[in-house]
Amino acid sequence: MNPQPIDRYAETLARETRDSVSASAAITTEKRVDILARDFPDPDGLRRLAGQIKQHTLEHLDDYLAKAVRALRDNGVVVHFAADAEEARKLILGLLSERGVRRVVKSKSMATEEIHLNDHLAAHGIDCVETDLGEFIVQIDGDTPSHIVRPIIHKNRREIARSFEAHGLGDYDDDPETITRRARIHLRSKYMESDAGITGGNFISAESGRVVLVTNEGNARFSMAPNRLHLALIGIEKIVPRDRDLAVFLNLLARSATAQQLTVYTQFINGPRASTQPSGPEEMHVVLLDNGRSRVLATDCREILRCIRCGACQNVCPVYRQASGHAYRAVYGGPVGAVLSPLLAGERFSDLADLPKASTLCGACREVCPVDIPIPDLLLRLRARAKEEGVRTPASIPMAPFATLATSPALWRTAMTASRAMNHLPTAALPVKPLREWLKLRTLPEWRGGEFRKWMKKRKQS
Ligand code: SF4
Repeated sequence: MNPQPIDRYAETLARETRDSVSASAAITTEKRVDILARDFPDPDGLRRLAGQIKQHTLEHLDDYLAKAVRALRDNGVVVHFAADAEEARKLILGLLSERGVRRVVKSKSMATEEIHLNDHLAAHGIDCVETDLGEFIVQIDGDTPSHIVRPIIHKNRREIARSFEAHGLGDYDDDPETITRRARIHLRSKYMESDAGITGGNFISAESGRVVLVTNEGNARFSMAPNRLHLALIGIEKIVPRDRDLAVFLNLLARSATAQQLTVYTQFINGPRASTQPSGPEEMHVVLLDNGRSRVLATDCREILRCIRCGACQNVCPVYRQASGHAYRAVYGGPVGAVLSPLLAGERFSDLADLPKASTLCGACREVCPVDIPIPDLLLRLRARAKEEGVRTPASIPMAPFATLATSPALWRTAMTASRAMNHLPTAALPVKPLREWLKLRTLPEWRGGEFRKWMKKRKQS
């Protein structure tokens, strides 16, 4: 994971990478606006409704969790709870090991990224192959996803073609269709050789216990079909109260994430394979992951748990477009990550407390969020928390002297008047080299520190 603060990371980002991220994010943002305006008379009303449903669910999460667990069990699903990443990893490894599983196929899941499941399984001799094309490319490159929906937004097809060549998946060919066909052939054999399928879950209906999974490649279906065992790792916030609520979320998710009317494969999983079904897992386990979510629920930033992981806030964010997802030093990048990552970090909050400062507070993330999360407000709350806890971030270092000046009127007045001395300073005597260079070609207006106060005082007297 990149260890640098966002601004420094962004400075070192290759032009090609920045262009890939920026162009792709901009196109999706435009298409999202078009499709929502075309398909719904009041898209904002729909966003507000989705936000209210999610907020209601969060406020009664204990009830809906209990209801969802009952419904899942009635459907024949074995339900487990994992308090944190370590417990989730141990639980999943245990389930796989007990059944002698050595090869796993996995569909895209941010929850599994969050607990670093692949590395853990690999360390215990279990081969876990990513089957989403983007995630597969990330995996063979030893990289990490840089976008919630488009894990390889930071790569272009030439880089992917080079990577395929290096990993024995054919000679260099950057034709996207060829790349896709090669991945498809490679992955087909992996599905057939696998012993278990692991997925995430986009939603769970508390009413029916249905687990809803959306993919555009059908890889989640393939991961389940040939296997006896299906494991789904799902965050506890993914619950919705009723089946009918899914209509609201599925309509918004597809349009917000990829500007589609509906994600190509939308699966409603009712439990393990029924006796009348020709294929599918005989065993289904759902692991409900907390990993800091209950703690977030107890904060004044709980609205972030409404998130349905569409990535629209990442696409629209001017900071994300320049810096890319890797700049955020955590699994979740962009505005959602700037809020969620420090909160999920718990005691390590201070390590990521600079993320909420990586925002212009332009409000675009709130405008696009399909569940109406007030992201700018949450960023401000987290900035305030960092201040209260005395966390010094790289961004606070240049601000600290300014804060001392700006909060002491006497000091401010003295500084304003004293700084007039700068008018008599020869450029060559300036201590900062870039400033010296800059001033060789420019003439600054005369510094008139303190004049405004005098003018204001006079104005009040007249
Ligand atoms: S915060 Fe909103 S816009 Fe961002 S990923 Fe989550 S649901 Fe999408």
